[in-house]
Amino acid sequence: MAPTQGPPTDKSQPWLPLVGGGNDGWSTETEATATCFCGAVQLKFPLQGPGLVETFICHCVDCRKVSVSMFATNFTIADPYLTYTRGQDNLTAYAQSRTIATNNTMTNYFCKTCGTLMYRASSGHEGLNAVRMGVVDDYRLHEGKLRPRVEQFVESRVGWLLPVEGMKQFEGSMWGGKVLAGGV
Ligand SMILES: [Zn+2]
Ligand SMILES: [Zn+2]
Repeated sequence: MAPTQGPPTDKSQPWLPLVGGGNDGWSTETEATATCFCGAVQLKFPLQGPGLVETFICHCVDCRKVSVSMFATNFTIADPYLTYTRGQDNLTAYAQSRTIATNNTMTNYFCKTCGTLMYRASSGHEGLNAVRMGVVDDYRLHEGKLRPRVEQFVESRVGWLLPVEGMKQFEGSMWGGKVLAGGV
């Protein structure tokens, strides 16, 4: 039988659509997996603090380029809590600081096989990893426990996209930028 691609009617159930080559992602009440498009690399992370630090949307110009889209959706996981179920040796890294607004060095970790960007790490925030939300296997979490709480670099948000109601709005970085509107 073909797997169900749409969200389940029962919203308390995980939603694990058939995507790419992995198809063995999972989630529990307290942790979940994130898998690259080909399935070679799989991460495991917690769904609450202290491991889960923040959930946010980034509109910075680098995120447009590196996410090949108009913004990036991320969540930060503290170092000891981000672990691999497989494929750590199948990652490759690309780092640069020339165009990073904060002048930090940003290192991007990609799957060598399929090119999926799994997470980024900034030299300015040692021990924190900004995982890309699109790689999380349980799609229910994208709008549930991992729903973004913050939008940052909103001054470079693409013109056809409105601020998300209720999300805290930052001009510049959420780590020191100017708050334009509070969250709920
Ligand atoms: Zn891959
Ligand atoms: Zn960004």
